[in-house]
Amino acid sequence: MAVSKTRAAPDIREAVAAGIEHIGENYLQEALSKMAELQDLPLVWHFIGPIQSNKTRAIAEHFDWVHSVDRLKIAQRLSAQRPDQLPPLNICLQVNISGEASKSGVTLAELPELASAVAALPGLRLRGLMAIPAPASDSAARRVPLRALREAMTALELPLDTLSMGMSDDLDEAIAEGSTLVRIGTALFGARDYSTPAAEEQ
Ligand SMILES: *Cc1c(COP(=O)(O)O)cnc(C)c1O
Repeated sequence: MAVSKTRAAPDIREAVAAGIEHIGENYLQEALSKMAELQDLPLVWHFIGPIQSNKTRAIAEHFDWVHSVDRLKIAQRLSAQRPDQLPPLNICLQVNISGEASKSGVTLAELPELASAVAALPGLRLRGLMAIPAPASDSAARRVPLRALREAMTALELPLDTLSMGMSDDLDEAIAEGSTLVRIGTALFGARDYSTPAAEEQ
């Protein structure tokens, strides 16, 4: 997946010309305007940013996947608001795998209960787990949380097929630990400039 937050539609077009089909976006308004500009392309759109309740309807209407679900209330809204004519919305539950107090994501302790509740929602299809591990300086340390996420998914004993893990800095380790979907921004597009207007909306 190419993560295109702060990138303009022409940058995405270039990535698509190079073979990218999956696009990840963190900010709703920014994503909606790029979707409008790129309507002619057969892209799969993934929402990967924090979700506020007042954004769930637009997310359910416009995206194919959501990777950042960590509360049942948000999942229930996405399920109820998914339009009938669309297939169920693909969901990954975001896990706070490094146990950082201030970070998003369900805890490992609360994951099984959330996963079974989300798996039962009719407008959603639970596909797997997503995590953003805390940065680590060496490769062996980077593998620890990635392995923990894989083991947590196996332990759920649900029919899941997606391990959304691996970013520019832990791509190789994530693949070695069984990632099925890496989310790459910087390594594809270069360093992000957060002073651009698109990144300021939230
Ligand atoms: C920004 C972002 C990425 C991409 O990060 P890079 O380090 O630029 O590859 C991946 N996943 C999420 C959830 C992000 O917010």
